[in-house]
Amino acid sequence: MNENAESGSRVAARLERLRELELPGEVFTGDVARRLEEAVSRGDILEWWRSLLDGRRDGRSPKTLFFYLHVPFCRSRCRYCQFDSIVAADGFAITRYIGDVQAEARRFSRALGRVGVTSVSIGGGTPSLLDPNQIDRLAGVLFDGFLDLPAGAWFSVEMNPDTTTPAKVAAFIRAGADRFSLGVQSLSRLALKRAGRAYPGFSSLRSAVDAVRSQSAGARAAVALNLDFLAPLSGETPESLADGLGRALELEPDSVTLYRYQPVQQQGRLVEPGPMPFEEASRALIKAGMPAGYPVFVETRTSTILMRETPDSLRPRYDQHPDFPASVMAFGPFAESHVYGRGIYRTEFGRDGGLVHVGTRVDDGYECRSHAARLVAGMRPIDTGEFERRFGVEFRARFAPELELMRELGKVDVKGEMIVPVFGDRAEAGLFAGLMFDDAILERIARLYAGD
Ligand code: SF4
Repeated sequence: MNENAESGSRVAARLERLRELELPGEVFTGDVARRLEEAVSRGDILEWWRSLLDGRRDGRSPKTLFFYLHVPFCRSRCRYCQFDSIVAADGFAITRYIGDVQAEARRFSRALGRVGVTSVSIGGGTPSLLDPNQIDRLAGVLFDGFLDLPAGAWFSVEMNPDTTTPAKVAAFIRAGADRFSLGVQSLSRLALKRAGRAYPGFSSLRSAVDAVRSQSAGARAAVALNLDFLAPLSGETPESLADGLGRALELEPDSVTLYRYQPVQQQGRLVEPGPMPFEEASRALIKAGMPAGYPVFVETRTSTILMRETPDSLRPRYDQHPDFPASVMAFGPFAESHVYGRGIYRTEFGRDGGLVHVGTRVDDGYECRSHAARLVAGMRPIDTGEFERRFGVEFRARFAPELELMRELGKVDVKGEMIVPVFGDRAEAGLFAGLMFDDAILERIARLYAGD
């Protein structure tokens, strides 16, 4: 039996095992390692980062390193929320949070020195719940002696329109922010009511946009403004969505991003999406954009981004996300970090209220498999040349038995450098994405779902 035949039979057995396990389709579409977490020590984490930063210096590790700060507070919880946040926006909770971030930054800078990052983003939760003094303090914690962000690099902040003020925008701009994303989600009163989210009114959105515009005028660098929408929400009709998008575009943001609502379980209840297919919502956005002077759009599996013709100085920044291979250094409760080829971990509140980390080690082989799985799950053509440029391995050689099996079953067509998936639906794509992992990972996942 030659090596490929042996591998082929092992891969066929893995597919049988996957079918038998009947895992939920989404298991293999994200970062599988997130599901394999165990307690990891700060020492482990700092060692992973030290090794990655050493590797960056001599070219063994990817250069791209995003820094993400999670602000985990919200005024109230929206019923559809897919993010980790708590309703605890009193002064004490925020002061304690800033203290935790400061302690973490000190530990990191003591162990690692200054860390050069390629972009910064602040999300949540609701970063606009911080007051200007708190924003100044956090900026000092991050940038005085810890992070280095090159001039012109992307620094984005998510804001809620109803808590955005000129003073807060000015504080973020002082910290270096050059992109604001206002979370509108919908301008339909009914859709927001069903989502359990306050309807701040269009005038509140206009004030928030004015706050960003007025403070941008005095900024050293150009500041971009994006508006986020979410679809399909229950209660949103094609007419109300088109109306909301049209009114939002009248405010002349640089871009509008429409995210696909992925139903989530909230306190045991599934918050159902509205009946409108996301593709229809996406078409409504593109249609509204054309006459309003937004001819550029980018569609991905999870979002559609509409842009107007921006000055050349702004345009490249829209293309920076998500860069890959990349690492993510994330601070704050619920934040997820990825030390490329070393480990993946999440920060959580421990029993005593302090921060602890859970995660798992990964290696370069895992990174390659994980990326292949996401490509398969995404049901988009796989560019093998691009894969080789990123991972230094030829996709067809690296995944020869997996590819052969999928081809035999009529699940992919190979057209030159491109591999075109022909899956019936996302659940089937998720099943075949699982095939890209090795047996050891599969069995760890199986144990997890069996509740061991
Ligand atoms: S404001 Fe955003 S992060 Fe907070 S609960 Fe609503 S959707 Fe979630």
